[in-house]
Amino acid sequence: MDKIKMITPLVEMDGDEMTRIIWQMIKDELILPFVDLKTEYYDLGLPNREATKDQVTKDAAAANAKYGVAVKCATITPNSGRMTEYNLTQMWKSPNGTIRTHLDGTVFRAPILVNGISPVIPAWQKPITIARHAYADIYKAVDATANPGDVLKLTSVAADGSVTEKTVYEFECPGVMLSQYNKDTSIENFARACFNYALDTCQDLWFSAKDTIIQSYDGRFRDIFQNLYDTEYKQKFEAKGLEYVYTLIDDAVARCIRSKGGFIWALKNYDGDVMSDMVSAAFGSLAMMTSVLVNPKGVYEYEAAHGTVTRHYYRYLKGEETSTNPMATIFAWSGALHKRGEKDSLPELMAFADKLEAASLTVIQSGIMTGDLAAMYTGGDAKAVTTKEFIIEIKNVLSKAL
Ligand code: NAP
Ligand code: MG
Repeated sequence: MDKIKMITPLVEMDGDEMTRIIWQMIKDELILPFVDLKTEYYDLGLPNREATKDQVTKDAAAANAKYGVAVKCATITPNSGRMTEYNLTQMWKSPNGTIRTHLDGTVFRAPILVNGISPVIPAWQKPITIARHAYADIYKAVDATANPGDVLKLTSVAADGSVTEKTVYEFECPGVMLSQYNKDTSIENFARACFNYALDTCQDLWFSAKDTIIQSYDGRFRDIFQNLYDTEYKQKFEAKGLEYVYTLIDDAVARCIRSKGGFIWALKNYDGDVMSDMVSAAFGSLAMMTSVLVNPKGVYEYEAAHGTVTRHYYRYLKGEETSTNPMATIFAWSGALHKRGEKDSLPELMAFADKLEAASLTVIQSGIMTGDLAAMYTGGDAKAVTTKEFIIEIKNVLSKAL
């Protein structure tokens, strides 16, 4: 069989620990035998981030912006324990944070659905994709405690020096206070990424906030979404039979629980933080959650939502064969290859990506899966296999499909 050709390289960002091991297995068994793979490789493993003083992460982010599509392995975000473990000279920042900031992107998280792994909410038949606005609000807030007699004021000083002041509260007892902000350019980029991604994946878009209570703040979010929709996206949505709805967050939560799924739910920073954990837990497993970073210019970075699975890696280092679930990492590769195929008009590459996903799902539906899924499988008898055995099963199904 001739290998499938590529034109533009994928930006490949390697990572750490168990996912780094799985990364190589996926390439060796599921991609390289079938695709004439072109990548521009960046080693984001922690030892190389240390050796390059984290320059490699910045270079990888720049390459992502240049070529448009990247696939990323999970990476360690250093903490004090990692400083000693890896003998680090600095507590390097989270690579995901660096890439997100460089691209000014929005993260979309969606579960991989398989028959036999049922969501906690039986009505959910299709994935629910969460889009979180990962900028400011309480994550950049200034907070403090208050004493009796303190007066909390919101003061802003305009460029010409004029002062606007509003009294928030006069404390008669001890209390707490907080000041937070957001900015139009970031909200607009977020909205644009959401509209584009909805069109791209042919799904309805919901945006929810609390504009009845926080009228200027959340009202601004609502208006930016609505203005963009009316002026730039309405016709495109209608042409595809898609809907954009703004709704109050409490209403959205109730609607979401009763829905069949199959939509994108855009949320402010804190709401997205909370709801993405709720939705991923309700769909079954972090190991089945994919993640894609999209920026307003149409740059994509695909990855798994889970981390480097450190506990499994330590067992692997002792010589044990682990049963770590590679699904989300496989789907990161298939997502990136599919998008590369779309951008370069390579139908064969897109078809390969689809077949890789289908083969992975077929193997699970035949009852063969990693230990984490076997424990929750309701589709009949489940056979738990090692990561390597699972990947080889997928390879067999994929070879036949090609
Ligand atoms: P984690 O790697 O997601 O793993 C937490 C636990 O979840 C694992 O111990 C395992 O449970 C289960 N799990 C996660 N993925 C799995 C998979 N594919 N197959 C089977 N089980 C899976 O989170 P963590 O242990 O908190 O973080 C480890 C490292 O990853 C940290 O250094 C963190 O900085 C990094 N991290 C990176 C990213 C990223 O690059 N996007 C995201 C999150 C965390 P059992 O042990 O019970 O089997
Ligand atoms: Mg969270």
